[in-house]
Amino acid sequence: MATYDAILSRVQQPAQYIGREWNAVVKDHADVDLLFALAFPDTYPIGMSHLGLAIIYEVLNRQPHVAAERVFMPLPDMRAELRAASLPLVSIETRTPLADFDAIGFSLQYEMCFTNVLAMLDLAGIPVRSAARDERHPLIVAGGPGAMAPEPLAPFIDLFAVGDGEELVLALAEAIRSTRGLPRDQRLRALAEASPHFYVPALYREERDASRRLVALKPLHESVPTRISRAVVKDLDQAAYPERPLVPFVETVHDRITLELMRGCTQGCRFCQAGMTRRPVRERSVKRLLELAHAAYAATGHSEISLASLSSSDYSQLRALIEAMDAAFTPLRVNLALSSLRVNDQLADLPALIRAVRKSTLTVAPEAARDTLRRRINKNITTDDLLCGARQAYQQGWRAVKLYFMIGLPGETEEDVDAIVDLAHQVSAQRGGRGGEVNVAVSSFVPKPHTPFQWEPMAEPEALRAKQARIRSLARGRRVRFKFHDVERSHIEAALSRGDRSVAEAVEGAWRLGAQLDAWDEHFRYPLWLQAFEAAGIRPADYANRTWGEDERLPWDHIDAGVTKDFLLAEKHRAERGETTADCRDGRCLKCGACLAE
Ligand code: SF4
Repeated sequence: MATYDAILSRVQQPAQYIGREWNAVVKDHADVDLLFALAFPDTYPIGMSHLGLAIIYEVLNRQPHVAAERVFMPLPDMRAELRAASLPLVSIETRTPLADFDAIGFSLQYEMCFTNVLAMLDLAGIPVRSAARDERHPLIVAGGPGAMAPEPLAPFIDLFAVGDGEELVLALAEAIRSTRGLPRDQRLRALAEASPHFYVPALYREERDASRRLVALKPLHESVPTRISRAVVKDLDQAAYPERPLVPFVETVHDRITLELMRGCTQGCRFCQAGMTRRPVRERSVKRLLELAHAAYAATGHSEISLASLSSSDYSQLRALIEAMDAAFTPLRVNLALSSLRVNDQLADLPALIRAVRKSTLTVAPEAARDTLRRRINKNITTDDLLCGARQAYQQGWRAVKLYFMIGLPGETEEDVDAIVDLAHQVSAQRGGRGGEVNVAVSSFVPKPHTPFQWEPMAEPEALRAKQARIRSLARGRRVRFKFHDVERSHIEAALSRGDRSVAEAVEGAWRLGAQLDAWDEHFRYPLWLQAFEAAGIRPADYANRTWGEDERLPWDHIDAGVTKDFLLAEKHRAERGETTADCRDGRCLKCGACLAE
């Protein structure tokens, strides 16, 4: 019979399955009393670049009595080998079968990874449905953005932990440990009662009206919370952070040290789920960031440090931080990378401060091409800012500009679509001569839960394809290049994003038909998803393309993300009137609910 070692010699990039990376934590299971598998439902190079996973790995492994081990979605060749050899999916630290862990925690970052969750459970020999599992099986838990609108995975997950992971995971580990040995139904109830941030879907029942519309999600017991609140880390300086990041043997998406400057964003872009659900803004101090940078550099030898956040321009000590980081790390030939800056900050004095900054591509996300539509989505940048910024960028030696746009935004007109091409060419023209290089990424607007646009319909796939075709037909010259997100995948993403428990049937159906690694162009198969939705008696359009009533029960209403529904609705109405809303960090609290929720 084949062994893991024999299989590894036959699969592509075997180093992603072997563990033993620099700084990996391997504990003797005889010395711990809780085994926690951290499951990332995408491949190793993607999961190893995810900061949240690294943080939870750090928090759990700091506990002497807990062993946290990683597992990622295997590539198709590895899956086929495991199946052929009847070998289960194992952790990469100690090759322990997942079924032998006390708990498996999935990090839900993207809807198109949902089928990977089922695939990984199945590869582990664990029933995918919660109702089919018993006391012998590990507890299946999940967190991350997917836990904010969890119903499409409700039948598969025993417990969703809602909110900042480092705030939740120790309480979760303790609850798992202390309820071990209880009969499963008692255990689930004890877990649901253990924290206001734990959602145990098996303890809630959907109620629907005669037309099958969802009208309520009722707890089965009085002791179980009606709404599940989001856990919020209050002080990032006190929060655990990876001081000895793992150094993979294989190339990953981000091969560098990542420092999270702050969490949350209050600019208020009305389409942005992260901006709405991670409020309020919390900053790490310059002192703490420098400590972390020195520790991580000493422990890894990485040659790049990324200063990351949703909106780094809003970090109040940005200049002081950059000066200190530059002084400390440029002499060591460590490059600094800054993400998510406003265009004027990228071009004004910050690059001059960072001697090591690479002037390759200036990235800007105007999202819409005309000021009117940008006001509607509350995107705080004007066309004049953008053109002025691009001109400076080319003058300062930046090689190319990358622009992100969305099509299908609420209130978009034909002129807005045409203006994307015009604006991209205007940006190119700022370089003079033959024009500058401009790369344009065009995605489709997906209405996301917990945003002011959560009630809005996604544009029909045919309409989005027509908009893409229109842009292609207007594009001219080779200096400006357009790339488009796959319309069909965005359509399924929207249906999963706004799904209820009926959509879970489609998720399972799609997986059984062979859908896996749906986030990857080469693996996504739209017809298969349509078939799965049809078999479940629903259509993606019922969720993606419908306008939801403002007084309608939404499938994620039981999750309290902090920002209130009243605030989101007021923002929707302001959008319809073309009114902008200022960032509350500029002075006036808008009572969105995020701080009050604390
Ligand atoms: S409650 Fe007020 S200060 Fe806090 S994030 Fe919301 S608007 Fe800003």
